[in-house]
Amino acid sequence: FEAKLQQTKKMEAVGTLAAGIAHDFNNILTGILSYSELILRGNTSDPALRDDISRILELGRRGAGLTRQLLAFSREQEARMQPLKLNELVENLMKTLGRLIGEDIEVTFNLSPDLGNVNGDPGQLEQVILNLVVNARDAMPTGGTIVITTGNVELDAEQAARHPGMTPGPHVMLTVSDTGSGMDPETQEHIFEPFFTTKEVGAGTGLGLATVYGIIQQHQGSIWVYSEIGGGTVFKIFLPQTTEPDHALTTRVFPDLPEGR
Ligand code: ADP
Repeated sequence: FEAKLQQTKKMEAVGTLAAGIAHDFNNILTGILSYSELILRGNTSDPALRDDISRILELGRRGAGLTRQLLAFSREQEARMQPLKLNELVENLMKTLGRLIGEDIEVTFNLSPDLGNVNGDPGQLEQVILNLVVNARDAMPTGGTIVITTGNVELDAEQAARHPGMTPGPHVMLTVSDTGSGMDPETQEHIFEPFFTTKEVGAGTGLGLATVYGIIQQHQGSIWVYSEIGGGTVFKIFLPQTTEPDHALTTRVFPDLPEGR
């Protein structure tokens, strides 16, 4: 529990810092990008020079992508909770998920038909699923399978005690599993920390799972990772059920897909 509290404080501090840096940095990048574009549009005919400038543009755009993610992470996002059907949310996302992953990755859905409702922010929960799927994709460069499962779980007092921050009672469980590289225990310990990444510079920001963690916390839920090197990874999320009836989802499909992730 201590560890979780520390994690929250750290995330708040990092969030404030990140927002400030991201904002200023974005202005600088906008300048770099516009001047590079101006040069390219001019009559610079030296091919080597054009190549170099194209490279500046490409890196600048990558930087802009990073600042966008920083801003999304640090924005004080007030969750707009509503009773919703998680299955409906997952179904709405199917098309987007198909676009995100390559042909050599198969996504299987295993959605419990009588799933209870949860109180959630549809946009934020979409982001959770997308971040988990993008990571699963990245862990399977030569292809594999992603399975998305939902189910009802009754947590008794003893189980709830083992899940810090959770209260006993009916929960919805969402799991995202992959057949990818897996992680060693040392890596697993750090994955929810902001800026922890094992991906190449420019490929990963280390904010995906920190964002997921923050969102699940805001939803009074809990997230767990089970992974083994070479044995794939399972992320398991528990969200408390609500007895309130849902209204049809007017989900906005996450409008701002992070580029190149
Ligand atoms: P990023 O994807 O930008 O690196 P994340 O916070 O989303 O940031 O993930 C942090 C790290 O956790 C990744 O760099 C990777 O090492 C590890 N990771 C996350 N999901 C998986 C997965 N499904 N399989 C293997 N490793 C993973």
